[in-house]
Amino acid sequence: MRLVLVGPPGAGKGTQAQFISAHLGVPKISTGDIFRANVSQGTPLGQEARKFMDAGDLVPDEITIGMVRDRLAEPDAKSGFLLDGFPRNVPQAQTFDALLVEASTPLDVVLELVVDDDEVVRRLSGRRTCRNCGHIWHIDFDPPSNEGTCDICGGELFQRDDDKPETVRHRLEVYYEQTSPLVGYYAEAGILVGIDAMGPVDDVTDRAIAALRTYDK
Ligand code: ADP
Ligand code: AMP
Repeated sequence: MRLVLVGPPGAGKGTQAQFISAHLGVPKISTGDIFRANVSQGTPLGQEARKFMDAGDLVPDEITIGMVRDRLAEPDAKSGFLLDGFPRNVPQAQTFDALLVEASTPLDVVLELVVDDDEVVRRLSGRRTCRNCGHIWHIDFDPPSNEGTCDICGGELFQRDDDKPETVRHRLEVYYEQTSPLVGYYAEAGILVGIDAMGPVDDVTDRAIAALRTYDK
């Protein structure tokens, strides 16, 4: 299955992507994760992307699209993928559509995670990520047994620089201005499915898997 997750920062895309990709047997591809890996390795791509990420802005489309194209060319993405964080605006979606049409591999479905703004702020302010395995935790909603340490691999947990309150507010503005038009774009294409992403993580996963069942191939 070829699937895209859409929703505001903090909606739970990364969290659900972990479970949905395992359920579907397709790789989870997060553009934010790839950018962060490049930033921490100090690559030229990371140095360029960092300026935009720290400000809570989108990394320019040419950089982002080139990076996604390279990632999708890897063998594990041939039988399907779950994209988290891409496309992030209508021009990215249009370029991506053209790439997929050329390869005769159109998207099957776009899953929108619907949450309210107050919940997004609560989720982002307590988010912690494992530096080693990338697992996503929350200090109140999904706390690890030992603060600062990942239960899964023992790695160190960190708070993302762009989860500071001022940057979170700006990222939400960027979402409403640039990313949320994708909901209409994919609805018009007839491939949008929205689910209520409030409530416990497991309930959201159940709703997501139920919503995707008719598209699973
Ligand atoms: P996104 O990838 O959409 O930015 P994340 O998956 O990183 O969002 O989730 C943001 C934060 O919210 C994380 O700390 C995560 O543990 C927490 N979270 C995710 N889903 C839920 C949920 N259903 N209820 C409470 N907290 C959640
Ligand atoms: P995320 O991990 O999805 O919250 O993304 C973190 C940051 O990475 C964003 O605020 C952007 O700066 C950058 N980013 C991730 N995906 C994209 C994208 N598709 N287009 C542009 N910038 C992106």
